[in-house]
Amino acid sequence: MTSLLTSGSPVKSAPEGAKGKPPTAVERFHSQARRRLARADILGGLAWLSGAASVALWLADGGANGFSSFAGTMTALGIVAGLIGMDIVLLMLLLAARIPFVDNTIGHDRALEVHKTLGKPALYLLLAHGALLAIGYGAAEGLDPVSESISLWVNVPDMWLAFVSTALFIAVVVTSLVAVRRKFPYEFWYAIHLLTYAAVGTAIPHQFSVGGLFAEGTWQRWYWLVLCVGTGAALLWFRIWQPVAATFRHQITVSRVVRVSPGVFSIEMTGRNLARLAGSGGRFFFWRFLAPGQWWQPHPFSLSAEPFTGQGNQPGKLRITVRALGKGTANLEHIKPGTRVAIEGPYGMFSTAARTRNKVVMIGAGIGITPLRSLLESTPFQPGDATVLLRGHDETELFLDREIMALCQTRGATLFHLLGPRSQGDHAWLPKDAVRDGYTLSSYAPDIADADVYICGPAPWAASVIRDVRSAGVPTEQLHYERFDW
Ligand SMILES: Cc1cc2nc3c(=O)[nH]c(=O)nc-3n(C[C@H](O)[C@H](O)[C@H](O)COP(=O)(O)OP(=O)(O)OC[C@H]3O[C@@H](n4cnc5c(N)ncnc54)[C@H](O)[C@@H]3O)c2cc1C
Repeated sequence: MTSLLTSGSPVKSAPEGAKGKPPTAVERFHSQARRRLARADILGGLAWLSGAASVALWLADGGANGFSSFAGTMTALGIVAGLIGMDIVLLMLLLAARIPFVDNTIGHDRALEVHKTLGKPALYLLLAHGALLAIGYGAAEGLDPVSESISLWVNVPDMWLAFVSTALFIAVVVTSLVAVRRKFPYEFWYAIHLLTYAAVGTAIPHQFSVGGLFAEGTWQRWYWLVLCVGTGAALLWFRIWQPVAATFRHQITVSRVVRVSPGVFSIEMTGRNLARLAGSGGRFFFWRFLAPGQWWQPHPFSLSAEPFTGQGNQPGKLRITVRALGKGTANLEHIKPGTRVAIEGPYGMFSTAARTRNKVVMIGAGIGITPLRSLLESTPFQPGDATVLLRGHDETELFLDREIMALCQTRGATLFHLLGPRSQGDHAWLPKDAVRDGYTLSSYAPDIADADVYICGPAPWAASVIRDVRSAGVPTEQLHYERFDW
C-alpha cells in the first residue's frame, strides 16, 4: 500500500462571479448540482405528464362513456393501455436517442437504466392493449377473442401490421432480458434491438387509420403526430446525423498504439477542431475503427487523457486505453496508424459536470482506472482536497499508475495503491491484508461524506465499493460511477 501526499500547483482560476469575486469551487459546484437536479426533476415531470396527456387525449374524446357496458369497458381499458404503452415506447426511444440535454442531466448510463426498466411495462401494456381490445370488440360482435383477432387481422386495414409489431416487441424485450442477452454476442443483441424501430414503425399506421381518436382534423391527431415525428427526428439527428457530421468534421485518425501491460494498450489519435468536440474527464465515445473486420463494431471507450485541442495548424490529440476482453478489442491492438475513426459522443457524466462538492475521491480498479486518470487531470480541486484509490491484485494491474502518480504529485492529491488478493464480507473490494489490519474506506478518505465520489471498475467490485461509500454517509447526488458493461 502506497500513500503519497504532496502540495501541488494551484488549480486553474475560476471565472468571475456576479459581484466581481470569483465563485469558489464549492459555490460553483453547489449551483451546478442544483441546476442539474432541477433539470432532472423537469425531465421526470415531463415523462409523467406525457403519460397523463395520453389518457387526457382519450378522456377529451369522450372515451369514459365506454364504461357503460362490459364490451365498452374492455375496449376503453384496451385503448388506454395502448396509449400509455406507446407513450412509454416513445419515451424509451427518446432515452436511447443520446440527446445531449438528457445525457448531461441524468447521464447516458442512467438514461439507459431507465430505458431498460421501461421495457417490460411497455410490453405488458401493449399485450394488454391487444388482448383487451380482442375481448371488447369480440363481446360487442358476439365473437370469442381468438375469432375476433383473426377477423381484425383479415378485415381491418393496417391491423396485420399491429400484430407484426407486437411480435417484434416481444422479440426485443425477451432478448434484452439479462439471462437471455448474456448468451449472445453484443452485436447479435444489438441487431435484434434495432428491430425496435421496425416494431414502432409497424405499430404506427393502425393508430391513425383504425382509432377514431386520431381521426383527421382532431387536435389529438396533431399531438400524437408531433410526438411520433419529434421522436423520430431526435433519433435521426442525434444518432445518425450528429455522429456522421462529427466524424467528417474532426477527421480522427489513429496515430499510434502503445502497450501499457499485457492485454492493455493505449490508442492515440489525432483530429481537427477538437475544442468543438468537448470531451473531457472520463467521458466516453463510441469508436468505430474503419479497418477491415472492425468498421462494423462500435465500442464504447472512455478518454484516458484530457484531449489536447491543438493550436494553429497543429492537430489535436485524443487517447483511450483499452483492455482486450473479447475478439473485437484484441484485434484493436494491431490497428494500423493512419486508420480513420468514426465517433459518436461524447457521452456520460463521469466528468466535472457531475461535481457537487469541492472535495473529490476517485476509486478505480482494473481498466476502470483509466477514465479516472483523465478526470484527475482536469477536474478542479485545491491541493489536499482529492484522494485517489487504485485497486489491483498487483502493480501490473494499476494501469497508467506512473502517469497517475505524477498527476497526484503536481496537483496535490493523495494516492493509495491497494494491492493484494481480495477480502471477503462487508469490505470485499479492499485487499485482504488491509481489512485484516483494520483499514476501512474512512481510513483512506476520512472526509468522504463531504466529497464527490467517482467509482469505476468491474461490476461486482464497484457494487461493493458503492455499498461501503453509501454507508460512509455519501448521498446519491455525490456518487458517480461508470459502468463498462451493457
Ligand atoms: C461507458 C463505457 C465505457 C467503457 N470504457 C472502456 C475503456 O475505457 N476501456 C476499455 O478497455 N473498455 C471500456 N469499456 C468496455 C468495452 O467497451 C468493452 O470491453 C468492449 O467493447 C469489448 O468488445 P469486444 O468485441 O472485444 O468484446 P466481446 O467479445 O463482444 O465482449 C467482451 C465483453 O465486453 C462486453 N461488451 C462488448 N461490447 C460491448 C459494448 N459495445 N458495450 C459494452 N460492453 C460491451 C461484453 O459484455 C463482454 O463482457 C467501456 C464500456 C462502456 C459501456
